[in-house]
Amino acid sequence: MAFGMWIGRTVLSVFFVAGYLTYYDSSFYQKLRTNSGKAAVRWGHALIRIVITLTVALGLQWAAVSVRQGGDMYVNLALFVISYALLDEGASISEYLFNWAVLSLFWFLNHPFDARLFLLVAVAFALTSVGLRYFQATVHYQFGWYMLFAIATATLFWTTYVDVPLRSLYGYPLIFALMSGYSYSYIHRMRSVIAEQESLTQELNHDVLTHAFSLSRLNSVGIDTFSDCQQQGIEMGVAVMDIDHFKSFNDDYGHDAGDAVLIGLTNILQTELKHASAPAELYRTGGEELTIIMPGFALEAAVSLVRNCWNAVRTIPVAYGDNHFRCSISVGVAFLEQQDQNLDELLKRADNSMYLSKQHGRDRITVDGQADLLNNSHSAMINFTYYTQPVMGLSDNHIITNELRLERYAKGQWGKAKHYNVTTETMMALIRSISHQLEVPSLAMNYEVAELADPQIQEMLLAYLNANAQVQLIVELNHMPDAKLFASIGSKYRQAGVRFVIDAATTPGHFAAFAPVLQYFDIVKVPLAPKRDAVAEQTLIANLNYWQHVCTVHHLQLALDGIECDADMRLVDEFKVVYGQGNFFSRPVLPRIL
Ligand code: GH3
Ligand code: MG
Ligand code: MG
Repeated sequence: MAFGMWIGRTVLSVFFVAGYLTYYDSSFYQKLRTNSGKAAVRWGHALIRIVITLTVALGLQWAAVSVRQGGDMYVNLALFVISYALLDEGASISEYLFNWAVLSLFWFLNHPFDARLFLLVAVAFALTSVGLRYFQATVHYQFGWYMLFAIATATLFWTTYVDVPLRSLYGYPLIFALMSGYSYSYIHRMRSVIAEQESLTQELNHDVLTHAFSLSRLNSVGIDTFSDCQQQGIEMGVAVMDIDHFKSFNDDYGHDAGDAVLIGLTNILQTELKHASAPAELYRTGGEELTIIMPGFALEAAVSLVRNCWNAVRTIPVAYGDNHFRCSISVGVAFLEQQDQNLDELLKRADNSMYLSKQHGRDRITVDGQADLLNNSHSAMINFTYYTQPVMGLSDNHIITNELRLERYAKGQWGKAKHYNVTTETMMALIRSISHQLEVPSLAMNYEVAELADPQIQEMLLAYLNANAQVQLIVELNHMPDAKLFASIGSKYRQAGVRFVIDAATTPGHFAAFAPVLQYFDIVKVPLAPKRDAVAEQTLIANLNYWQHVCTVHHLQLALDGIECDADMRLVDEFKVVYGQGNFFSRPVLPRIL
């Protein structure tokens, strides 16, 4: 082979390798390599890989015999393709042996039969196949070994090859070595890119302080786990845990002490999870909030694990310098239900139960709204919780008031309760206690006209407002059953600084009921249903158009309730909404009721 020819073939061969390796690097090949899933799928993947390798090798061999001159270059490329497949440590043992069979066949097709050579090669192949399988990763990823393998293969192949003048013989092993050198550098680079990606993913998946799993991992892996369980009908429990009075560690001993408590507590929980009946994962989902995801856990197993965690936390002290801190956690547990649309819904139920644990004295577990009897002296079922949700002024994103809401646990899920259903005294105690905890001393809550007209309620509310001038009360009315009655009391409340809201504004009929007493109202609140379909969206838009018009004509301000996402925020711009509330801005805040 003339030198110029040799150069040309070398260039072509190296470029062939570059191209061929992009196949190994492609997402298609990576998919074929994933070894998870059913055995049949794995076999299918192996088969596709073999067929591809064979097709490329056979194609090259065919090209070699078809061309009149220079076919050896194709043989050399085929040798690369076949021998490279042997280095794939992802191949199963049968696939590996099959690849050896292909190499043997390829060898004997290209060599004249000579009994001694045949025997020698057979023995060499047998020994190499065992050794290579054993040291596959070393040979594949260490330069010296990789080149030794390449040069040995090529030299053995070409020095015994048919019909080639000896002078050319040394050309091909050299080309093969250059191809292998290139392929090594390519693999090496790819490996470092992959390693970097893996370390980034690892970082992203773990919380820096506690090394528990991160929120970002919950949003990928957690969601997948949820979908898998739901599709396959597997039970799944989640536990949301919040450290009790955590702020006091920070306040009394400094932020580092708080950090030490977080780390210590995470370690305690991880140890408990190691002893769990099935794999469960611990996530840090907030500052001092941790979440355990328990796929495959039915009620009993989950509660038992959570109880162990809760108990370990309160009995094992966390060391910080000379101090030994004891902490407790409030826990809420919930289980996957058929109607759950996404992981968030499940977490929200657990979160609500966690709030109940807080509300009922902390250091306890609430399972699906029900007190876990082991650690709770109350055996009564807890099925409601109060919380406040900020209402935002949308022009400057400031809290203007906080709506007091009640959630009720009924028929296996939490939902908004229409009536507070408590005594006037309890309600007043609630208002007193909450209004002093609020950053902005303004409280919004729902009332019925009849309640407002009730002399006892009227007296207590007005007395409280007059004595606490800094507190503002916003009263929301869902309907207006008796405009006359309302007209008789409206101005008294207005004088005490109360502002009124037309709540749950939906149909024009709704407006008609309020029309006679409109002078008492400042705000109209339109509810947004979550996850609206096309029909619901259309109704909503018509509704918003209607109420925007009402607001313009009657000088009212438009508020949107239930803002969850960016799409909802676009409605804010479109309909000149003045106030907004919903999970988009904040999660509900639990008032501390003493
Ligand atoms: P509760 O029993 O109601 O949960 O009371 P709490 O004090 O635990 O709850 P609160 O939400 O009032 O305070 C939580 C505090 O946790 C506030 C915040 O400064 C602190 N925190 C959040 N993340 C970290 C952290 O990474 N390190 C430290 N040291 N403190 C943190
Ligand atoms: Mg908290
Ligand atoms: Mg806390």
